[in-house]
Amino acid sequence: MSKTIKWEYSPAPEGTDRIQLKEQYDLFIGGKFVAPKSRQYFDTINPSNEKKIAQVADADQSDVNRAVASAKKAYNNVWSKMAPKERGKYIFRIARLLQERAREFSVIETLDGGKPIRESRDVDVPLSVAHFFYYAGWADKLEYAFPGRKAKPIGVAGQIIPWNFPLLMAAWKLAPALATGNTVVLKPAETTPLTAVKLAEIIQEADLPPGIVNIITGTEKTGQAIVNHADINKIAFTGSTEVGKYIMKAVAGSGKKYNLELGGKAANIIFEDAAIDQAVEGIINSIFFNQGHVCCAGSRLYVQEGIADEVISKLQKRMETLIVGDPLDKNTDIGAINSKMQLDKIKMYVNLGLDEGGSIYQSSCSLPKKGYWHAPTIFTDVSQSNRIVQEEIFGPVLAIQTFRTVDEVITKANNSPYGLSGGVWTDKGSKIFKVTKDIRAGVIWANTFNKFDPASPFGGYKESGIGSEGGIEGLSDYVNLV
Ligand code: NAD
Ligand code: MN
Repeated sequence: MSKTIKWEYSPAPEGTDRIQLKEQYDLFIGGKFVAPKSRQYFDTINPSNEKKIAQVADADQSDVNRAVASAKKAYNNVWSKMAPKERGKYIFRIARLLQERAREFSVIETLDGGKPIRESRDVDVPLSVAHFFYYAGWADKLEYAFPGRKAKPIGVAGQIIPWNFPLLMAAWKLAPALATGNTVVLKPAETTPLTAVKLAEIIQEADLPPGIVNIITGTEKTGQAIVNHADINKIAFTGSTEVGKYIMKAVAGSGKKYNLELGGKAANIIFEDAAIDQAVEGIINSIFFNQGHVCCAGSRLYVQEGIADEVISKLQKRMETLIVGDPLDKNTDIGAINSKMQLDKIKMYVNLGLDEGGSIYQSSCSLPKKGYWHAPTIFTDVSQSNRIVQEEIFGPVLAIQTFRTVDEVITKANNSPYGLSGGVWTDKGSKIFKVTKDIRAGVIWANTFNKFDPASPFGGYKESGIGSEGGIEGLSDYVNLV
């Protein structure tokens, strides 16, 4: 491999001095922060240095009961009766307040979750704001979203979210629920609760009437208490397929509505006629963006045979230039793995890949001593039946295979229990249409990857989930049409 130039940058850390964080956060129920009845708290740490940032309440059954009762009361007495355009005003206000505090939210997201500040600043926070603005606009226009029908709210929505896009997932859940007149009990993931709790401050500041949004922190058992609560009318869940299956079983026969956004193992397909350098950037983005903690990550790469050597060698060169390190540094490309548990899982899969006979290449970056880190990793010499090709790793690990024909790659891409997303790189429009038509996945990007817009629905086929978020489709999951 020819020598790659590695640019040296001076450190450019984003400041944390103006970030206001308390040592302890309570539950946000009925418009107020209240101490948990459980009297229990747990720590949330910064995964890049393992330092404790704050402690948050661990809600138990009685706390969930309180939150649901508050949401039910607010639904019956206030929110379901309010004129839609008044509801819209509150959501616009939340959007504006979040936009004003964008810098603070990006820094907190990066501290708590380990993702590079460049991503929380340029992706997570702006997309969250855009989502609130988008659905605020729909609040008084539901008759145009569902012409000839009347859209009635469902009631109290229980919303459970993961740690990879904590604020964005909260926005994806809250905005459409509020726009359609539902009230909410939302639970963030245990390793990344802080931006959700800060969002509760914004909701307070926006003067949203008490009880419409309740935000409670907790673990798996808090999630279960929400899922199984009799006064919850709808569950919206983003997380693992395993927990998604548990939820489907738990709500079966209860009459609760649900939508599930689950795991993925996206195929990213590069044809010989693609613009190779752009495709290489696209591969980098599709799997190393956000440490690979992305449900729609392009974790299976299929390269057409004639360009395989060139693509892999360019990919390796580019991997060498990726900057891994302090998530708060503005030059950082790849931050910390979210938790020790997730790092162990990634390492387990890397060892498995080696056992299965794969050839590994890792970028030669040095990893910080403290915290949870993993080098960008690719595997070649793998086959379709290998576990690292079939199972979701949720880390910066890419499995590369080659193919010869369009039909062959479509068969390989569809040979997966998942169907969330995919990518295709080619100069030919006809191939784009063929591949996007025949691959069973909710979103397929052409000559790009990981692009989001609040107006465009996102959701999976097969074990990747049921229902969609975003767009009019995202509204329809929060209404009963009469
Ligand atoms: P997870 O399923 O372990 O946890 C997600 C949330 O569910 C957390 O808040 C957790 O506390 C809660 N939870 C755990 N067990 C529960 C139970 N039995 N009942 C109710 N709630 C429960 O997932 P994770 O490890 O936090 O996130 C990673 C997973 O999420 C990956 O599989 C990823 O693909 C998926 N994901 C999917 C999307 C999507 O849009 N499809 C987006 C982001 C993440
Ligand atoms: Mn944390």
